[in-house]
Amino acid sequence: MVVRLGGYARISLDKDGEKLGVERQRHDYGQVAAVRPGWQIVRDYIDNDVSAYKRTVIRPEFGQLLADLQDGILDGVIAYDLDRLARQPRDLERLIDIFEDRQNLVFCTVTNDLDLSTSDGRTMARVMVAFANKASADTGRRVARKHRELADNGKNSGGFPAFGWKADRVTVDPEQAALICKAHDDLLAGVRLSTIVSEWQEKGVQTSRNTGKPISRYAVKSILRNPRLAGFRTLRGEIHLGRDGKPVMGVWEPITTPERLEAVTAVLDDIKARHATAGASNNHRYLLSGILRCSECGTRMIANMRSSYATGKTKGSSFFYRCPAVSDGGCGKVSRAGEPIDQHIINLVHDAETRLTATKVNAAEWPGAARLAEVEQDIAGLVSAMNGKKISAATAIAMLEPLEQERDELEYERNRHTVAQVKASAATLDQEFERLPIERQRAVIMKHVRAVVVRPAGRGARKFNPDLLEVVWAA
Ligand SMILES: [Zn+2]
Repeated sequence: MVVRLGGYARISLDKDGEKLGVERQRHDYGQVAAVRPGWQIVRDYIDNDVSAYKRTVIRPEFGQLLADLQDGILDGVIAYDLDRLARQPRDLERLIDIFEDRQNLVFCTVTNDLDLSTSDGRTMARVMVAFANKASADTGRRVARKHRELADNGKNSGGFPAFGWKADRVTVDPEQAALICKAHDDLLAGVRLSTIVSEWQEKGVQTSRNTGKPISRYAVKSILRNPRLAGFRTLRGEIHLGRDGKPVMGVWEPITTPERLEAVTAVLDDIKARHATAGASNNHRYLLSGILRCSECGTRMIANMRSSYATGKTKGSSFFYRCPAVSDGGCGKVSRAGEPIDQHIINLVHDAETRLTATKVNAAEWPGAARLAEVEQDIAGLVSAMNGKKISAATAIAMLEPLEQERDELEYERNRHTVAQVKASAATLDQEFERLPIERQRAVIMKHVRAVVVRPAGRGARKFNPDLLEVVWAA
């Protein structure tokens, strides 16, 4: 008589598991089955979860095994030991239910630790699983406490090093960091995420897991919005707050600033929101639709063409922004001419963009930087030598004067360099903005502006009044 068995093996990353790889488990239970007359392993059920203890882990093959036992496709089950098969009482009880239901099922383990087909074996199994479960729960609590402690101190915990850092998890990996920064620039300039993903795939970018497969959109997105980039320590994916309620900063070198990270996150969130409402919005053909919000009810405002303008009867703005009607989720109370608002916000964003460029330019190389640093160091050295009475004041002053003059000249040069750069980029900024497609223009706006709250203009108010707009800046 043939006894059809299901072999169950589980990959576990705990110490036992490493000694007991799946191949080893299969080999061992295969040998046990081979010496029993008629025993035939018809299918191996292999789950590669990390732990049978963690409740969130889904073991699809274990579920399939139970179903096949229940449905009579199998006459029994064989595994290395009970621990491979069921570490949680919940799983064990599901298994026991089936064994109580089908009296002739075979149960066999390599270690021969127990037999679920007998009542004694089932009692024994319950005790063993209860103990194993308690041990795992204690370990779990210990591990959680350790994780929290590390997080409180801004330290790294184990696992794969995050993308952007070297294996020590502290030093920035220049190549990976450059990729991240470029992708941030691109996103903020309106480049699509899918373009960035293909670029990375073409370059063969891999995370430290190095699966060999092309990097996924999901992975790229997680990398680009990782709070770690701005130095934030996270715990279970959230920015970890210390006892003082402030974000804990990590011990590693940051790759970007919190402000830039927030702007990037906003862009990525917006992509998600657009996916979710695709077709429902009015396609963002207008610069600020969805960015403006009604001050009366908070709803995002939409844009409409002014019909009288189309027929040539009215001068002024060709379109207007309005709060949607009550039936569309708004209050319908606020409505404003579109073009003056667009122009006003463009001007504000232009100023913000110029400031941003200025800080970038400041950081950018200026040929005199090294010399200026030297001069400043020399000055400091002289001052401290003079204070320490190593040289006389008269000597020090005589040497200081030319150095100070050189320093002042260098600083002047540096400032001129900065101004020239800012002017040059501001000039191209305006022309560039005009030429951008509306989606990219919106991306530039959203890099700086999270929302603009629009107050009603009141009856008969004809003139554009910027005080009725409240800009909520992105950073
Ligand atoms: Zn409203």
